[in-house]
This record gives sequence, structure tokens and C-alpha cells, in this order.
Amino acid sequence: MRAVAIRVSLEYHPRLEQRVSPRTHYGLTLRLPVGALRMIGRIVAWWRAKFGRPSAVAPSQPCEVCRQPATVFEYRHRPGGVGQDRQFCERCARRHLWVPRPVREGVVERPTSVGEIPVEVERVIFDGRYDEQCLVFREVGGSRRLLFVTGAFEAAAIRHALKGEPTSRPLTHQGWVDTVAALGATVQSAGVIARRGDTYFAEVRLLHNGVSAVVDVRPSDALMVALRAGVPFLFVEPLITADSVSEPEPA
Ligand SMILES: [Zn+2]
Repeated sequence: MRAVAIRVSLEYHPRLEQRVSPRTHYGLTLRLPVGALRMIGRIVAWWRAKFGRPSAVAPSQPCEVCRQPATVFEYRHRPGGVGQDRQFCERCARRHLWVPRPVREGVVERPTSVGEIPVEVERVIFDGRYDEQCLVFREVGGSRRLLFVTGAFEAAAIRHALKGEPTSRPLTHQGWVDTVAALGATVQSAGVIARRGDTYFAEVRLLHNGVSAVVDVRPSDALMVALRAGVPFLFVEPLITADSVSEPEPA
């Protein structure tokens, strides 16, 4: 049986008010089986999840399956409806949280005369272990899904926009959209147009006095502008073909 030795040192102060010497050390070595240590860890985690006071910095939420502290958070968006927040520990996320895993190889250049497919954000997934977070896009009215990696700040802003949470002051992308409107232009659409390696290229399309203009932006910015302006977010067809998976989500 594997065991862990824990050395416990005790100090005896003959005169408690005298903080320095003289003092005597007592030693005690405990040998605990690894299984017992794991069990103690589980009991402590359960106890903290049930009775512990939530931290002011990062409120710990229990995994919805096993009640251990959650590290993976999913927001499942329902367009026009109420979205769903879920939280898992690392172990349960591996078992219960499905993400499409497309193979991204080669280069998908911008096509010249192929259609574009509107997509919507189906899920935003935060994993506390990583700096980069995941977006799952789904073809509007279809079953093809794309996995997209973005920064934690961008993912939080996208979740915020999807939930339609009110803010006391305009956020950055609302400012972009308001600026476009103040200049007499409208946002027509935003879309992802190409990929080289893992880098995607996107743009925002504007219309001003009947004249079109295109602004080169990052995909997360294009998405945020589309969400804030309430216009379609598009992927060019070859990108959907190359980078999406169409397998159904496991029940
Ligand atoms: Zn769990």
C-alpha cells in the first residue's frame, strides 16, 4: 500500500510569555495511506463547498455533478431565450462537457465568389487552468459547429453581450457601434474570411451613403461588433467546410 509520511513538529514553551528560548521540540511522524489522504481531501472539499464562506475575490462554485470546487464554466446561449450557466470540476468536465474538436490544417484563403454562412455562439467555455478560452459556434439552422479559441477577457465580454446584461456605461464595442452610427454609417455584417495556420482573419462591413467600407479586425472584435449592432456574423463557406464538425452533441 502506498503511504505518505507526514512529520509533525511541536514546540513546547515552558514560559509562554517568553517567546524565544528555552523551548523543546517534539516530533511525531504519521504514516497515512494515499487513499486516506484523498478521502480527507474530498471531505475537506465537500465541507468547504457546503459550509465554507465564499471568497470575496473568486466565489467558489461547486461542480454540478460531484460538488467539488468547479474550475470549468460553460454558458450555453439560447437566442431569444434564457441561457444556461453550468459548472464542472476538471474531472467531470472531461466526462460531461463535450466540445467539437476540428482539425485545423493548412491555409484557407479568402474565396472570391463563394457564399457565407451565418453562425451564432452556442457556448462560451471558461477553464480556470488556461489563459485562452473557448467559443463554440453553430451554423444558424444547421448542425455544423466550430471551436474557436479566444482570450479570457474577450470570452467574458462575449458572454456579457450574449446575456444582454445591462451596464451603467457603454462598453468598448458599443462605443465602436455608436461611433459608426454617429458618423452616419451602419454596420452591415461582420465575418471571418480566412485562416492561416491557427490565425483567423475577420472584417466588419459598413455602409455609408451607399458606399461600402470594410474594416480589418480580429475575429473576437468582429463578433462583438455583430452582437452589439445586432447584425449577422458570418463564416465563409470554405472555412465552415474545413474547420467544422457535424457530429451531433452526445446526449
Ligand atoms: Zn465534478
